[in-house]
Order: sequence, then structure tokens, then C-alpha cells
Amino acid sequence: MPTLKPELPDDHLEYVEAWGRASGSVAHVFRPSTIDELKKNFKLAQETGRTIGFRGGGNSYGDAFGNRENMVLDLSRLNRITDWNPETGIIKVEPGVTVEQLWRYVLADGWWPPVVTGTAKTTVGGCAAMNTHGKNGFVMGTFGDHITEFEMLMANGRKKVCNREKNSELFHAAIGGFGMFGCFTSLTMQLKKIYSGHLEVEGCSRPNLASAMSWFDENRDGADYLVGWLDSTAKGSGFGRGEMHKARYLQPGEDPAPARTLSLQAQAIPDSIMGIIPKSSMWFYMGFFFNNFGMKMVNTGKYVAARMLTGEKGKKYQQPHAAYHFLLDYVPGWKWGYGRGGLIQYQTFFPKKTAEDAFAALLKLNQERRMPNYLTVVKRHKPSDFLVSYSPDGYSMAMDFRITRHNREAVSRMARAMDEIVVKHHGQFYFAKDSTLRPDIAQQTMGTEKVAEVIRLKKKYDSKFFFQTDLWNRVFAPLAKK
Ligand SMILES: Cc1cc2nc3c(=O)[nH]c(=O)nc-3n(C[C@H](O)[C@H](O)[C@H](O)COP(=O)(O)OP(=O)(O)OC[C@H]3O[C@@H](n4cnc5c(N)ncnc54)[C@H](O)[C@@H]3O)c2cc1C
Repeated sequence: MPTLKPELPDDHLEYVEAWGRASGSVAHVFRPSTIDELKKNFKLAQETGRTIGFRGGGNSYGDAFGNRENMVLDLSRLNRITDWNPETGIIKVEPGVTVEQLWRYVLADGWWPPVVTGTAKTTVGGCAAMNTHGKNGFVMGTFGDHITEFEMLMANGRKKVCNREKNSELFHAAIGGFGMFGCFTSLTMQLKKIYSGHLEVEGCSRPNLASAMSWFDENRDGADYLVGWLDSTAKGSGFGRGEMHKARYLQPGEDPAPARTLSLQAQAIPDSIMGIIPKSSMWFYMGFFFNNFGMKMVNTGKYVAARMLTGEKGKKYQQPHAAYHFLLDYVPGWKWGYGRGGLIQYQTFFPKKTAEDAFAALLKLNQERRMPNYLTVVKRHKPSDFLVSYSPDGYSMAMDFRITRHNREAVSRMARAMDEIVVKHHGQFYFAKDSTLRPDIAQQTMGTEKVAEVIRLKKKYDSKFFFQTDLWNRVFAPLAKK
């Protein structure tokens, strides 16, 4: 007689929804607040024959932290800052510390996280697992480049300390390894010294794709951050036009009152938009524009306003760090404006040589199929030396697509056509944003050798495949079975 697996209690069953809300799965969710509890959760999973997936802040757009019918460990309660040295800028934290918690803790001492995401709701563990990037990828690399050491709880319940010398193979695999090698339980990072709570920002407009792309290399000297927004709806001579922003840290002496600008009050984001509309209800009004016609108006209006206010030459102003980086946190719940079906993001990375052609082909395809993406963001990157690395010496373009009951299939078909463009132009995908990648395309874009190495190390460090997520099962599990 087959032995029955002991059951997990139903009271931990939850629907684990992707950040973009377009997908999700039911899992047993546990929220350990100590390492001992975390170990007990591992044991419980092993006793009940379940696999474990980790969730940090739950900000990955797709299925990176779901684990259908198995266990999801939500690590947001492991959120203590355990050591801070304001002289050296070295900080040690538990994995559930958010980027927001981090910058608020160190700002008054004149430090800032060297790489931040477009939302501050992400956790340090989640950023390490995806090896996130910011608007300064071309100069500061990725999040993992600033991690000096981490501790990881392995599938066998033992702790491993990893840095660039000790357990270096695991160090380079787990950073960017999307939670597939073990659980970060403590991370040590080197932060960035700053001399003002303000950045000097310069905005300008660019009339077409070629000029928007060349702006990055024309401006990289002396810039600490570069980012471009493109009007995905423009056609003809304005195809690929956009608004670009570069920023630099103020140097010692440039800010007459650093103690004031480095205070939390000086970083506060206003509660209302233009002093009238409360931020909390903004997503509701935005919803009226989340359709093709509304987005054509918004994109055109944004470009025209940028052209009038800043022109091609640019206009300088100062802005608090938080306002510059976390624009997407300005409007709480903005994703609700996309409606019930939510959104997916399709972000790809291309080498410098092929990026412009690839971006043009992708944008053109969206226009031809009448499925323009609603928000297009371009960044410049440099290569990274982690195992699962997505950034070449080149550019990325992130595109947001609304999902509805009626267009789900058509978007899925378009994603397949976009995949072909990505393969043809030697592009890469980024798992934090992915919802549509298939195993064969992952193999083609990452390369057979890289995929084989990921699977070899998975077998070495997690031989029973104890750590799994819906992302792993969609993309890698079929490749591991081959
Ligand atoms: C509005 C918005 C803007 C964004 N902007 C950017 C951006 O500018 N740049 C960028 O790179 N990304 C960006 N992202 C994506 C986001 O930064 C990544 O998805 C990041 O990994 C999310 O962190 P999280 O803490 O929410 O982790 P989750 O999304 O919860 O998890 C991400 C991965 O980390 C794993 N994980 C989490 N904690 C641990 C742990 N302790 N040990 C092992 N594995 C763990 C999970 O299993 C999962 O695979 C953005 C997302 C949103 C919603």
C-alpha cells in the first residue's frame, strides 16, 4: 500500500498573486520571523513532501515567487538591520529589509543604496535573488556587485557563508539565481557615500529613436544615472521619440545645507498631486486612460510637454533622491488602474550593436498588432559576472502591456513573435519581469552551456530540487528533465 503524505493544514492556503496581477497560484504561505522558524518551515516541507519557494516583497511582475500547491515562505518579517557602520558604509541586514527601510536608515549619515529599483518596496533578499539593476547600471552594475558577503540556509538546513573568496561558486550562482539555491538569511553590503539629499537632474526630449539611443553614450561621462522614456505610440518621423533624464550626485560643498536635504522630511513625497487629487485615489482616475486611445493621449501629451518645458538641449533642476528614484511609488496602487486582468512587463536586454534595430522591431510589431505598450523605459547597462546574468554592454527596454479577458491570447501570441525578435538580435530576458518565456527560448537566449551550468549547480547545491517556484517549473524544469 502506498504511504500517504502527511497533509499541510489548510489554514495557510493563500492565492499568491503575481505583482502584475495577470497570474497567480494557490500555495501554503508561511511567514517566519526568526531563522529557527525558517528552519522549522523547511522541516515541515520535507516531512510533507512539499517544495519551497521564497517571496520577498512580492514585486516580481510574473510568477517568480509563486509555488503552486506547495509552500511559499514570505520573508518580509525577517527584516532587522543587524549591523551598521556609518564610517565605512557597510551594513548587514536580514533579507526582508526593504530598500525603503534601508535608505531611510542610512540617509542622515550621508549614505545611499548604490543600486535601487524603481519601487522601494523590494527587499534586499529579493533584489539579491534577481540581481536587480537601477538607472545607473552602466556605471554601478547590478545589486549583487555591492554585496560583500551573505549567509544562506541550504536545503539540508545548514548555513553557508559566501563571499568572493569563500564559496565563491555559490556566491556567483545565488546572486541572480532567483531563489533556486537556498535562502539568503543575512546580507552584507557596501553603500554609496553621498554629500547631499538632492541629485542634479537634467531632462530633455529626443525626437526619434536613433537620437534617443545615442543620447545615452553622449551623456554617460559625468552622469551617475541615465534613463529614457519612449513614446511607444508615435509613428513616422517621431517613431521612438522620448524624454530622457540624467542625474548626478552633488559633490562636497555643492549643497549649502546638506544636513537639511539629508533629512527624511526633505525626501517626503507630497500626499496629493498638484495639491488637489489625493494620491490614494489617483489610480482610479488613471484607470480612465489605461486603454489604447487614452494611452495615445498620455504618451503624446508627455512628449509634447517635455519638448516645450525642456527642449532638446535640456533643463537642470535639483530633486530629492527618493522622488527621482521611486516615481512609481508616487501613486499607491497605480497598477489597479490596469483593471482586473492586470499587466505584464516584457523587458529585454540587447548588446549595443543590435539594440536600436531590436527596439525598432519590437515597437513596430506592437503598433502593427494594435497592442501598444503603455509605458516604455530604456536604460544603459554594463556586463555582470554572475552566473545568471542578463545585462550585456548595451541597453534594456521595458514595456508594460495591459491584460484583459479579450486580449490575453493575442498578447501571448505577440509575446511569441517578440521572442523571435529577441533571439534574432541576441537579446536576453530578465526573470524578475518575465511572464511569458518558454524553455526553448530561454535555452536559445541564455545559451545551452549556461543553462547546463545552472542545472548542474542546482543539482550540486539542491540535489532534491527542494527549492522551486512557478517560474522554475515553467522555464527550467523542462530543461532539467532533458
Ligand atoms: C514598480 C516596480 C518597479 C521595478 N523596478 C525595477 C528596476 O528598476 N530594476 C529591477 O531590476 N527590477 C525592478 N523591479 C522588479 C523587482 O525589483 C524585482 O522583481 C525584485 O526581485 C523584487 O524584490 P522583492 O523583494 O519584491 O522579491 P520577490 O518579487 O518577492 O521575489 C523575487 C525573487 O527573489 C526570491 N527571493 C526573495 N527573497 C529571497 C531570499 N531571502 N532568499 C532567496 N531567494 C529569495 C524569490 O523566490 C523570487 O524568485 C520593479 C518591480 C516593480 C513592481
